[in-house]
Amino acid sequence: MNKINTDQQSLDAILTEVKQQGVEYLNHIDKRSTANQGEVAIVGDLSEQGTGTVEALKQFNQRFEPIMVASSGPRYWGFVTGGTTPAAIAGDWLSTIYDQNTQSANGGGDVSAIIELETIQLLLSLFNLPKDFFGGFVTGATLSNFTCLAVARQWIGKQLGKDFAREGISGNVKVLSATPHSSAIKSLSMLGLGSDNVIQVKVMEGNREALDVTDLELKIQALNGEPFILISSAGTVNTVDFDDFEAIHVLKEKYNFWWHIDAAFGGFAACSPKYSHLVKGWEQADSITVDCHKWLNVPYESAVFFVKEKHQLLQVETFQNANAAYLGNPLENFSYLNFLPENSRRLKALPAWFTLTSYGKQGYQEIVDGNVEVALQLANFINENPNFELLAPVRLNTVCFSLTDENLVPAFLNKLNAVGKVFMTPTFYNGKKGIRAAFVNWRTSVADIELATATMLEILTEL
Ligand SMILES: *Cc1c(COP(=O)(O)O)cnc(C)c1O
Repeated sequence: MNKINTDQQSLDAILTEVKQQGVEYLNHIDKRSTANQGEVAIVGDLSEQGTGTVEALKQFNQRFEPIMVASSGPRYWGFVTGGTTPAAIAGDWLSTIYDQNTQSANGGGDVSAIIELETIQLLLSLFNLPKDFFGGFVTGATLSNFTCLAVARQWIGKQLGKDFAREGISGNVKVLSATPHSSAIKSLSMLGLGSDNVIQVKVMEGNREALDVTDLELKIQALNGEPFILISSAGTVNTVDFDDFEAIHVLKEKYNFWWHIDAAFGGFAACSPKYSHLVKGWEQADSITVDCHKWLNVPYESAVFFVKEKHQLLQVETFQNANAAYLGNPLENFSYLNFLPENSRRLKALPAWFTLTSYGKQGYQEIVDGNVEVALQLANFINENPNFELLAPVRLNTVCFSLTDENLVPAFLNKLNAVGKVFMTPTFYNGKKGIRAAFVNWRTSVADIELATATMLEILTEL
């Protein structure tokens, strides 16, 4: 019998083994190293017969599993790295098992697109955003920024009497921003808008990364009525600063521009009454990016775009899979493939649907409040120890700090990360070498901060 047929007959045993391994891993993830402690050689030759899944699992466990790092564990604070809730894992497994190709929702039997549309509604509800946004799932905030900015590009063309999607871009499209995420700049490159075409808006004074609204208005006036794209931030990556959305809205009433907000993780401020003021007015934007594999704590790859429904025609003009006759008229038959970059797509919404349904608004408020609390706990430790200094106040869930002697930062961070108890990433802020610790994992607790700070103190003695 060939290997697939044998596997088919032992499906129960295979999945049981994988399940047990998963439970074992997740139940002890706090003990697992946050640093890669070994190496593995790449083998490029494929066997003729194959091994069957049980044997493949043994190989995986021998070669790769021991050096998997606890990136979804409670002390992986580098980048902005979310974990996975139990419900999200269940939903993710089911996405694989049912293996739908999520496309249309117009009675073609594709319930997966209905699940996706419903999940978008649940997210809008979580964020207290109005229902006049249309949304969908993409692989990450980079692709969400790309999707939103692609519609913005089409909007700019419309203002000039052009259809950029058909004709290609002409002229120099102006983009204004103060502290855009690198992925927004990457998106401008991918979209042919040109990463050099960003007009830098000043940041506010007083150790801020938020844009200076007065300077924004000056830069707008210098454009003499030319339409432009504004990329604003709901949570900058270094210091989690927020642009003033109410002030931007006032400008939007006066001037003609597309307003995009990158709220990849900062949008979750909306989940807590303590921090929702940070995003006040964001509902007036034309488009918003939110990552799900960060603070929603669903597995990679998951993010959503929200684009105002009134721009749907522009979105379809940009993404329509137009010359495939068998797919029908994109304006009459709703299908996600006419609204975003991918055609065939996984049921990405299901993990998000499961976790939202399972934990509700209160569950997410607790995750957000808890993560901010531990960020403040780490900030207190930094403040009280003369060897460290905060580079910026903690505004939400990230601590950006340095050593009093900034030249010690690389050695300190390398040694700290090598221990494998906690992981943070280097940064450069306000002309100084720094370190970032970002908290978006539902598991992180007070005890994790204690363990990490004890390790930090040990490393100090070794410098
Ligand atoms: C993480 C992040 C991104 C990019 O997200 P990916 O999910 O890595 O593609 C974009 N913007 C901000 C503000 C982010 O924090």
